[in-house]
Amino acid sequence: MARTFEMTINGQRVPADSYVEIKNPANRSLVGLCPIGTREHLEAAVAAAKQAFVSWRAVSDERRAEACRAIAATLIEHTPELATLLTQEQGKPLKGLGSEFELGGCVGWTSFVAGQSLPVKVLEDGPKSRIEQHRMPIGVVGSITPWNWPLMIAIWHIIPAVRTGNTVVIKPSPFTPLGTLRMIELISAVLPPGVVNVVTGEDQLGAELSSHPDVGKIVFTGSIPTGKKVMASAAASLKALTLELGGNDAAIVLPDADVERLAEGLFWGAFINSGQTCGALKRLYVHDRVFDRTCAALANFASRIPMGDGSEPGNLLGPLQNERQYRRVIELVEDAKSHGGRTLLGGTPLAGEGYFYPITLVTDVEDGTRLVDEEQFGPALPIVRYSDLDDAIQRANGTQFGLCASVWGSDRKTLREVAERLEAGTVFINKHAEIAPHVPFGGIKQSGLGVEFGQEGIEAYTTIKIINEPV
Ligand code: NAD
Repeated sequence: MARTFEMTINGQRVPADSYVEIKNPANRSLVGLCPIGTREHLEAAVAAAKQAFVSWRAVSDERRAEACRAIAATLIEHTPELATLLTQEQGKPLKGLGSEFELGGCVGWTSFVAGQSLPVKVLEDGPKSRIEQHRMPIGVVGSITPWNWPLMIAIWHIIPAVRTGNTVVIKPSPFTPLGTLRMIELISAVLPPGVVNVVTGEDQLGAELSSHPDVGKIVFTGSIPTGKKVMASAAASLKALTLELGGNDAAIVLPDADVERLAEGLFWGAFINSGQTCGALKRLYVHDRVFDRTCAALANFASRIPMGDGSEPGNLLGPLQNERQYRRVIELVEDAKSHGGRTLLGGTPLAGEGYFYPITLVTDVEDGTRLVDEEQFGPALPIVRYSDLDDAIQRANGTQFGLCASVWGSDRKTLREVAERLEAGTVFINKHAEIAPHVPFGGIKQSGLGVEFGQEGIEAYTTIKIINEPV
């Protein structure tokens, strides 16, 4: 019998009137039943968070740090269960850069944020005045998450909010709600009732959360079009906003690159989580002089990476998470082929029940082709030939996206010069898609608003309050 999951509101497990089946994208088997929450559930969750804020904001900083450490301990204890569930509903492998890795990230981020602090800054301590800058929690934080790294992204939203004295209502993606439901049940058990609540259901709930007058901040990770809707609905009550949106990260391989040595980094930069990663490498510009060698090295490395059901040992890549994304990747590769694109590897969906699309390398494509211009969010990488570096930089920058970018080569001076000219929130040199809890991360242009992580990331869950007194 499939397991039935429940929402957590005000520390209680809350069932719904109806449930939806969540299926494993690798084989379409039933993973569990997800409650379809309603507007009433959302209202109850926001009311519980609003009520809990009154006392949680007054709890000492040290107690809140302790609570985050207790969350980390719970996550460690339940890693096997949560990782298994994540593999079943998201599709990513248990091993490699998969579910256990994601749970490791959850623990790492939680522990790091537990140790962060927001000390009072003394701005002036003179003969006339003492002026202090304090950081205050905002109130109820609404968190809306996507389906690609559902647990880690939930942790990125929740832990800094809770650490700084806010309370949370999270609405996970309808594609991957189960892991979040279980994780919040566990987290909620070590916190006072109402500090963290979860409501699941259709997209509409996200719209209701982001327009709710009692929500003070929305932290949203997802696509650019939805991010714009969130921003519009948040405007009504002037909510604080952090938006982590889509990317179409360009990487430039310079003529002096040792491509055989760099192939592994290029591969995982692009294909981590079967390409379903916001800050993955999504367009590869390779200099004419090393073009053939780069293609050969990438194809050689890629051909040794096993893809399959994530619960089977040995697989390092899984399926696309859902049918919509699967169809989109097929459509983009077919479009590239119809415009002269050549598939060096892959290019045809794999047979079977699951949403498996093979590792695909497409050459003979240019800017102007959808696979190059749009965020594919799947295991199909366009490799574009260039001969003039200025032109490659211009093409890399000539987009609405600005999440990450990278440059690969040997001469440090040139690498630094190109890195400085690339327009993105993060520019990597000889690597891609590496993030860390102490390093601010966010997109420029339409890839986002604000940053997560680091000091700036935690400050985004607070407002500034000045206390100005005469001496
Ligand atoms: P999506 O925008 O379709 O959905 C994201 C979330 O928004 C879901 O929970 C969904 O239910 C909710 N939602 C849908 N309509 C809404 C509305 N009108 N108001 C409020 N919420 C609404 O994105 P997705 O397909 O789940 O995720 C893939 C996208 O996320 C990709 O573009 C990817 O690049 C991006 N992403 C970005 C980052 C980052 O840190 N920049 C990280 C992961 C994913």
